[in-house]
Amino acid sequence: MTTQPSRFLQHVLQANTTTLPEWQLAAGVTARWHAANVVELFPAGQHSKPAFILLSCGIHGNETAPIEVIDAMLADIASGTLPLHHRLLVAFGNPKAMQQGERYLDYDLNRLFNGAHQQQPDAQEAACAALLEQEAGRFFAQAPSHALRLHYDLHTAIRGSVYEKFAIYPFLHQRAHDPAQLAWLKHCGIEAVLLHSKPANTFSYYTSHAYQAHAFTLELGKARPFGHNDLSRFAGIDQALRQLVSDTTPPLADYQPGDYPLFRAKYDLIKHSEAFRLHLDAQVENFTALPDGFLIAEDGAERYVADGGAERILFPNPGVKPGLRAGIVVEPATL
Ligand code: ZN
Repeated sequence: MTTQPSRFLQHVLQANTTTLPEWQLAAGVTARWHAANVVELFPAGQHSKPAFILLSCGIHGNETAPIEVIDAMLADIASGTLPLHHRLLVAFGNPKAMQQGERYLDYDLNRLFNGAHQQQPDAQEAACAALLEQEAGRFFAQAPSHALRLHYDLHTAIRGSVYEKFAIYPFLHQRAHDPAQLAWLKHCGIEAVLLHSKPANTFSYYTSHAYQAHAFTLELGKARPFGHNDLSRFAGIDQALRQLVSDTTPPLADYQPGDYPLFRAKYDLIKHSEAFRLHLDAQVENFTALPDGFLIAEDGAERYVADGGAERILFPNPGVKPGLRAGIVVEPATL
């Protein structure tokens, strides 16, 4: 794996929006830029079981390891080292935040999908979310009905985690969880899956709901600056994605309950006011268990108390603006 930015990532970071080039790559692959941060790759031939694969990274600009993993894949497709057998759309989510090494500039991009960008028209990320929705829609609209529609949105987390690599399965409404996808997540090295129980304004919920894609948010480790990632820690997802695009995934064992723990969101900790106090260490890891009766947080008269001893904390962040989610309390789940 190379850590030098390929010409794909260089193109994104230069934010060259005046020209949208088309590049001829090795092995008859064509790369077509649809926006300064969105590139589609067309394999040379037709596939009898086509997949339309959307990979997104940099939705949070400081989560650099997934950007490096995907960029190295693009470089290897460009050189012909990695064969491409499926349609591939790569979205580098928030290039301005990537340039500045920030999670976001005005507003968290991964809270602006599903049309939520219309409520934050002044945020720089609003146009970004609208563009990504449009590009995802254009891409999946081309997929024939028998094609597999896949979206993996790659992230790293602000904090450490009891389960270093975990997936968030967006709320599916009436659809069933897909056993083949659950088996593939295990193949990637995913150690736990959160089954979301309500709609969310995330990119993966959007593509799952609007285009019936198999879509996941993948949290793959801790966020570090460009050049400071130990990419060997991302070998599982790197290998699985390379096998996916080149059609070399080995036969996978069926998903079995107990392959990895499943959780569901029980409730959100909402920060109603600046009086909100989170009674967890600032360094607390995601999925830290909450002992029965533990006072998790309080906000004026409101108290959030752990119940039963099997609950865990996810994404605690007391620094959010009042009115927003300051953490999720999760509990064990079964399918
Ligand atoms: Zn993220």
